[in-house]
Amino acid sequence: MTAKLIDGNAIARKVREEIRVRVEVLKQKHGVAPGLAVILIGEDPASKVYVRNKIRACAEVGIESQVVRFPTTVSEQEVLDCIERLNKDAAINGILVQLPIPPTISIRAVLETISVDKDVDGFHLYNVGGLIAGDSVFPPCTPYGVQKILEYEGIPLEGRNVTVVGASNIVGKPMALMLMQSEATVAICHAKTRDLAQYTILADILVVAAGKPNLILPQMVRTGAVVIDVGINRLPDGRLVGDVDFEGVRQKASHITPVPGGVGPMTVTMLLYNTVASAEREANHAAAGQIAR
Ligand code: NAP
Repeated sequence: MTAKLIDGNAIARKVREEIRVRVEVLKQKHGVAPGLAVILIGEDPASKVYVRNKIRACAEVGIESQVVRFPTTVSEQEVLDCIERLNKDAAINGILVQLPIPPTISIRAVLETISVDKDVDGFHLYNVGGLIAGDSVFPPCTPYGVQKILEYEGIPLEGRNVTVVGASNIVGKPMALMLMQSEATVAICHAKTRDLAQYTILADILVVAAGKPNLILPQMVRTGAVVIDVGINRLPDGRLVGDVDFEGVRQKASHITPVPGGVGPMTVTMLLYNTVASAEREANHAAAGQIAR
């Protein structure tokens, strides 16, 4: 068996086209353009690249965006004040703080200050709790992107065995909760899991987000499994790879995502998706308020 390659770029293009149309409808019907504010603290080169990509992606679909830059010496209070100002700004529908932030600033304080209605990264405790109750306002972008990929590929989840390798707050744990909501049977593995293979071999769908190249070898994968590789690792020779032995595993899987070109393009796409959804909620609330008056 040779797996079908899942083309994350093609799926991202389709979803972005849907978003572009929704932005156009918002402009025509409500006279508003969705707005995203990105707070960038410090000079981390990788963070600068991520922020630039997000801003460029916003422009492509018609979302207005702004970057608020702070030096690493900024105080926590200044950042919180900035978030409070953006919370009140009607032109802003989404606020995100590019992580990591300096250790002098509490991540929890920053994330909890962002209004739940503008938390398009989905990291506020309300949105995290919503994943358990099944009514998260904004799901976090990377697992949401994986969910969209599975939906676009027509891969059913109900009753299937899913193993998620990686249990971080931003990828593994929310991914597992979202898959549970879709009535899959989910196992979550992490660095302390004994005998990882006994869990991965059971998986009809295997989602890997550990940040360890070649963690998943062909003998750990069930024949015909769907393999979603979230990992991004830079090898000493400069190559970018995921966590899965791609060439080996593609001989056994039914579907597989490549790295790059798999999950990666979907993460920024789902940020755009959450931002337009936020603007639609706001526009609908405003319209309902006018009718009530
Ligand atoms: P993270 O915070 O470092 O978490 C890694 C998780 O993997 C942890 O739960 C860790 O277990 C687990 N783990 C580490 N080694 C393991 C092993 N040998 N066996 C099983 N589990 C293991 O990383 P993250 O932010 O979740 O990101 C994970 C990967 O996804 C990284 O490569 C990152 O670059 C990539 N990523 C990609 C995108 C995208 O858009 N494609 C977005 C975000 C992240 P413990 O909890 O026990 O430490």
